[in-house]
Amino acid sequence: MEKILIVDDSTVQAAQLKAILSEAYDVTIAQTAEDGLRLASEGAFSLILLDVVMPGMDGFTLLKILQEEIITQSVPVILITSLSDVANEQRGLILGAVDYITKPFNPLIVQARVNTHIKLYRYRRQVEQQSMTDQLTGVANRRKYEQYSEVKWKEAIRLQIPVSICMMDIDRFKVYNDTFGHPAGDKVIAAVAQTAASHLRRSTDFFARYGGEEFVALVLGGSGEEIFAHLKKIRQVVEALQIPHDPAVAPWVTISVGGVTVVPKRESTYGFYLKIADTMLYDAKKEGRNRVIWADEGMRQLREA
Ligand code: GH3
Ligand code: MG
Ligand code: MG
Repeated sequence: MEKILIVDDSTVQAAQLKAILSEAYDVTIAQTAEDGLRLASEGAFSLILLDVVMPGMDGFTLLKILQEEIITQSVPVILITSLSDVANEQRGLILGAVDYITKPFNPLIVQARVNTHIKLYRYRRQVEQQSMTDQLTGVANRRKYEQYSEVKWKEAIRLQIPVSICMMDIDRFKVYNDTFGHPAGDKVIAAVAQTAASHLRRSTDFFARYGGEEFVALVLGGSGEEIFAHLKKIRQVVEALQIPHDPAVAPWVTISVGGVTVVPKRESTYGFYLKIADTMLYDAKKEGRNRVIWADEGMRQLREA
């Protein structure tokens, strides 16, 4: 059930709207703009019905704030008022409200308008979701990764928490394709992605397909030593899938992993550390593949034998 937030100081009006909508939607009521803002910021609502005239912060002010906050800016807002006032309607629509309903409510019209905006919002969310997902593997794609890494790098600088950047690459994959064909290769890429992703499920973990047979993981928090150990486990789990490789190069499909853990300083750039992770991956390939090589906070190399 989609969630709708009603922000209205009039308990009667809010209850009327709730009655009209609660058969099809999960409706929450906030009686002040301040409460509405707090609830909306939790990010769970698909539509906000907002009263214009309220004591304290009014509907226009709240609408402006909602439009500026990343979490709430894409949520559609329908303004409600007791007067059919053209000036208010105009002002609300210019501020970014998607629609406007006036009291007394016609239940069927309210339902129809709400249904339309919920449908549009769902469609938009779905398109956004798809544009951030890699089709073959179902994990995040490069575009999502670029967005995520930029946001989290800034956050790590601000909060002074360690970030681990990790690059993974399937070993001798050109040979795999040449031997078993491209469609079989695609299945392997998907299996490796899902296996790695299933071990990076915490809210502070992120995993994406970087391109081709390469993946990138970001982990917030944890020491270099700990994250190195975790990536060793992931490498082992991939190997334990025992996906047969071309016996001329290896018995099973494996991955090589390179990474770095750093508590970023204000002047540190993400690109610099990504390059270090890439260098560690290069070393892992050079030293025989199917291994993890890591640079810890003191830039000491941790390596698997
Ligand atoms: P290394 O161990 O050094 O990584 O060797 P490699 O053969 O894996 O590396 P290389 O970069 O030479 O080749 C990567 C191969 O991955 C080339 C390409 O055939 C294959 N590949 C890239 N993207 C895809 C894809 O989407 N599907 C399939 N099936 N293969 C892909
Ligand atoms: Mg490769
Ligand atoms: Mg590669």
